[in-house]
Amino acid sequence: MKYSIGIDLGGTDIKAGLVSATGDISCRLVLPTLVDAGPKAIAARIAKAVRHVLVQAEQALMTGAIAGSPNDTNIIGIGLGAPGLIIAETGIVHFSPNFPGWFDIPLVDYVTTALASRDSEEGRHKALPLHPEIPIFMDNDVNAMTLGELHHGAGVGYRNIVALTLGTGVGGGVVIDRQVYHGSRNTAGELGHTVVAPNGRYCGCGNQGCLEAYAGAKNIVERTQQKMETGLTTILAAESGVKEKSVLTPRRIAEAAQAGDRLAMEIFAETGQYIGIALTSIAHILNPQIAIIGGGIAAAGEKLLFEPIRAEFVKRTMDIPAHMEIVQAALGNDAGIVGAAMLAFRS
Ligand SMILES: [Zn+2]
Repeated sequence: MKYSIGIDLGGTDIKAGLVSATGDISCRLVLPTLVDAGPKAIAARIAKAVRHVLVQAEQALMTGAIAGSPNDTNIIGIGLGAPGLIIAETGIVHFSPNFPGWFDIPLVDYVTTALASRDSEEGRHKALPLHPEIPIFMDNDVNAMTLGELHHGAGVGYRNIVALTLGTGVGGGVVIDRQVYHGSRNTAGELGHTVVAPNGRYCGCGNQGCLEAYAGAKNIVERTQQKMETGLTTILAAESGVKEKSVLTPRRIAEAAQAGDRLAMEIFAETGQYIGIALTSIAHILNPQIAIIGGGIAAAGEKLLFEPIRAEFVKRTMDIPAHMEIVQAALGNDAGIVGAAMLAFRS
């Protein structure tokens, strides 16, 4: 049995785990990222997470808790999923909105150096089966998640897929012939910045009317507040008050919609509509077999979100590309770790 270590680097947490070739996770660890500490300190924390997973993995192999021999070089690599514009071939974070001040950071080199360092925080690395040359592969976190879904999630059995993650922002990934498509300068797959309304809401990228400006978490909340200010009755007003912005979350809006609240249902129907419009363009350009939609907001589910997405998509899309399936992501909270680990397996 072969394993790789998946690291999901986020603005809040570093999540790590040992992932088998079959996509099962063991030996998990979560460390706070401490984003202000700077890239070298964060690389050291990533190295700490790797060492911790390796110590646990060694024990699990020895006790037979996981399959494989502890003496074999059965850990084939480390995969690192990081947010932002990542240059996969060189292991560089070109720019990341989650990490202020990071420009062209050679993060893979920093992690390699931190792993080789004898000043390890744990002081145990000599006992580990880790070779200094253990390869580290990095890619954009959503590209990694898309790979995870391809190999172990909703994309199993498909060759051409697209993925959308609906969170604070709207991320995207494109897989063509089972390979992540990076584009000519590593920026392919920014599906959240597909324009769905020419003079629409302003997006964080500076453009107007991007999908993210409608389907990102903050934007769903703002759209809800705007609708509440028009005086429509809603159970959300009774409990939160229009002014108390922090109380309102996409989850709360989804719960209100599930309880039959008209305003909240409209918000999700419209969100689905915008996603359907974006998918129409994506299907016409790429003709994928399947679109996989994940992230917290996708948890609103079939009736609230996926049915309106499909209705809008089918209405607008030409006959043949309209055969694209639209489904919820399967890996849930594990998508980041499994996807990152697949970066190493794929290589
Ligand atoms: Zn945008």
